[in-house]
Amino acid sequence: MYTIRQFLCPSSLEEAYQALTAARNNTVLGGCMWLRLGRRAIGTAIDLSALGLDRITDTGDTIEIGAMVSLRQLETSELLRQQYGTLFRDAVSGIVGTQFRNTATVGGSVYGRFGFSDVLTALLALPAQVRLYHRGTVSIEDFAAMPYEKDILECIILPKQAYAASYQHMRFQATDFPVLTCAVSCRDGIHRISVGARPQKACLAYQGQAPDAQAITDSLNFSSNMRASAEYRRKICPVLIRRALEEVQACR
Ligand SMILES: Cc1cc2nc3c(=O)[nH]c(=O)nc-3n(C[C@H](O)[C@H](O)[C@H](O)COP(=O)(O)OP(=O)(O)OC[C@H]3O[C@@H](n4cnc5c(N)ncnc54)[C@H](O)[C@@H]3O)c2cc1C
Repeated sequence: MYTIRQFLCPSSLEEAYQALTAARNNTVLGGCMWLRLGRRAIGTAIDLSALGLDRITDTGDTIEIGAMVSLRQLETSELLRQQYGTLFRDAVSGIVGTQFRNTATVGGSVYGRFGFSDVLTALLALPAQVRLYHRGTVSIEDFAAMPYEKDILECIILPKQAYAASYQHMRFQATDFPVLTCAVSCRDGIHRISVGARPQKACLAYQGQAPDAQAITDSLNFSSNMRASAEYRRKICPVLIRRALEEVQACR
């Protein structure tokens, strides 16, 4: 169980950032679904609830997903469905249960860069950007590869353009962590293919016009954990990529 010495609900991102960087153990809270499982001794817990980051906003050219948007909002957003089909719904609907997804946030899910992340896999299949309060805006693939820094994830920025997209995952049991995840998007003949739960941080595995599922698999590293061996993951990877490509082909 984690402990919190002091609780802060700042009224600006600047106030939140000053508090975050004031001491090593000061921590931003998302939905606390992951944090609560750890044993961190948090100095000041910084709650972003008052900053209006719990919305999915159409800005005209882009769609901004605030850090405090819940996974359930991702799953049910009509705005996201119109642009990216069922990508987000399919990516998050297998995560634990509805009550859990009502609480877990996009900010916590992306900032965490978990090696099993469905959310990161889905975002990497789109030319998404991450807006960080201190560092500024970086591409999702750069963010995924970055070392952990003390910063505040404000929002995810997506192009407001229609993509054909598909999300595939392999789970041995519904609601368990995935054994492998794969997302594909296509627009103007350019495919973006991401693979996650290898079990390492998801990565953008391919971007181009002529994806070859086996060649993409051959370019990736896989590891073993208690759920599956590296060898098993390597075997099912081209299957998931092909299924996603077929689905994308069908919805174009
Ligand atoms: C039992 C269980 C099963 C799960 N299964 C899956 C699964 O199958 N697939 C999947 O993709 N995910 C899964 N997850 C992860 C889950 O979906 C969330 O990603 C996770 O709970 C973190 O989200 P949160 O909002 O609860 O973040 P928190 O737990 O509040 O925070 C997580 C980390 O992010 C930091 N943080 C939070 N918000 C911000 C921000 N705005 N800026 C900077 N840092 C921030 C926190 O300081 C902390 O270090 C699972 C989690 C649990 C506990």
